[in-house]
Amino acid sequence: MSSVNNGSERKLRYAVIGAGMAGVLAAIRLKQRGEDFTVYEKAARLGGTWRENRYPGLTCDVPAHAYTYSFEPYPEWRAFYADGGEIQTYFEKTAEKYGVTPHIRFNSEVVSTAWDDERQVWKLGLIGGEQVEVDVVIAASGVLHHVNVPDIPGLDTFEGHAFHTARWDDDARIDGAKVGLVGCGSTGIQIVTALADKVEKLVHFQRSPQWIMPVEQFAYSDADREAFRNDPALMDAIRFSDEYIGNVRRFTDGITDFNSPEIKAVQDLCEQYLNAKITDPELRAKLTPNYQAACKRLVYSWCYYDEVQKPSVYVETGGIERVEPKGVRMKDGTFHELDTLILATGFKADRFIRPTTVLGEGGRSLDDAWATRPTAYYAVTIPEFPNFFMLNGPTGPVGNFSLIDIAERQWDYIEQLLDLIRKGEAKAVAPSAAAHEDYEERRIAAAKKTIFGSGCSSWYLDATGVPASWPWSYDAFAEAMAAPKMADYVIS
Ligand code: NAP
Repeated sequence: MSSVNNGSERKLRYAVIGAGMAGVLAAIRLKQRGEDFTVYEKAARLGGTWRENRYPGLTCDVPAHAYTYSFEPYPEWRAFYADGGEIQTYFEKTAEKYGVTPHIRFNSEVVSTAWDDERQVWKLGLIGGEQVEVDVVIAASGVLHHVNVPDIPGLDTFEGHAFHTARWDDDARIDGAKVGLVGCGSTGIQIVTALADKVEKLVHFQRSPQWIMPVEQFAYSDADREAFRNDPALMDAIRFSDEYIGNVRRFTDGITDFNSPEIKAVQDLCEQYLNAKITDPELRAKLTPNYQAACKRLVYSWCYYDEVQKPSVYVETGGIERVEPKGVRMKDGTFHELDTLILATGFKADRFIRPTTVLGEGGRSLDDAWATRPTAYYAVTIPEFPNFFMLNGPTGPVGNFSLIDIAERQWDYIEQLLDLIRKGEAKAVAPSAAAHEDYEERRIAAAKKTIFGSGCSSWYLDATGVPASWPWSYDAFAEAMAAPKMADYVIS
């Protein structure tokens, strides 16, 4: 961790954009150094994805004790996999405890940010017209927050409540109702497990079924929580267990080559689970994907295969023709009468900080820089956008592991670049175009060989069909974040 500001350093002004998990992390680190910063949050509450998503069944499929900041373990988790509400509470409590909540300006969307070449500062435009000037921008605006509403003909004619999962409609009829659910990513699958016993009928529209990785869920007792409070090492034992971090390492080693034994092991496990749990051959055929396990983000569940076999659930794998006022018409003419239509159709994962206008050196826009695909040097910095740092930005690791750990490692990397500016060794830092080009060339070549590029559609792919993520192992990421290659930076 960085040293405390000793007074001889240049005092910088920081804008953190977004008060989700990564923005709160940046705020805590800046507060610990006594820095001058403000977090700009477009909503009225912090929490990011955990504020936005409130759907029934929402659970984080990373073990709760691994889904915490490393410096703030949380003995109070109620279950091995925590639910969304608990996680939201954790972030709010943590922000409060570290004194960063008063630094957050809520309802303050940043609509533009432009680099002033001459004065080497960022000028931010806030919604409502206010202008703010800072030396450093930390973009912590998240990945999965622009909802993907599918372009299904007739959607707007539906008479019942139709809504995206990240815009949960509390007035919609669910209990005892006929409910349609489109999409079977992690979100759709979790919703099935929560609604099967509540609805009269649940029609689950699955365009491409998912491989399900079996995991075990269990509640922590009062005695467990007491033990965690008394002995924090018990929480570390889970965070660093072979079942969690060992699996992350094996899995990320495996993704780099889709013929790897690690991926074969995942495939075998998912197949065995499907075959053991789903006895009806017709349903099993419907639930069997036609691509390799882990090509799309693996869905973890302890109960989906039980819930999907309940009489209230019907899996529809035919193509949707259109939505009509009273339900959904399939391409073969079948009609599903529905009271409510839930869209678990994912997110536009290529937006990042946009639609905020970002203008770098010489007025170069981020939209231009990202014309082919969103990209950042080692997922953190962008050529010609000095003193602009991203947390969970493009080409960073994605998968079934904790993005908190990823953001913390990225912050440690950013700190080392900030130190150059604080110590007066640089006024502005950005990666060189050549270094970034070299990184992208290597990354794209490796990405094409990963399991994510083995032939399925998913939000992991960019517009050209190349996996948009970190294509190397977890350990390679940790190593890259441990120390920036300063020679790759343009330091002015
Ligand atoms: P997603 O994985 O992108 O899944 C979207 C689903 O909607 C897919 O089944 C997709 O089908 C379907 N779909 C999209 N447009 C459609 C259309 N026009 N017609 C029919 N089907 C359509 O989205 P998600 O489930 O919201 O999950 C997104 C990510 O959020 C996850 O991968 C994960 O990273 C994160 N998440 C994590 C957790 C957790 O427990 N940690 C929980 C929820 C979400 P196709 O596959 O055929 O395109």
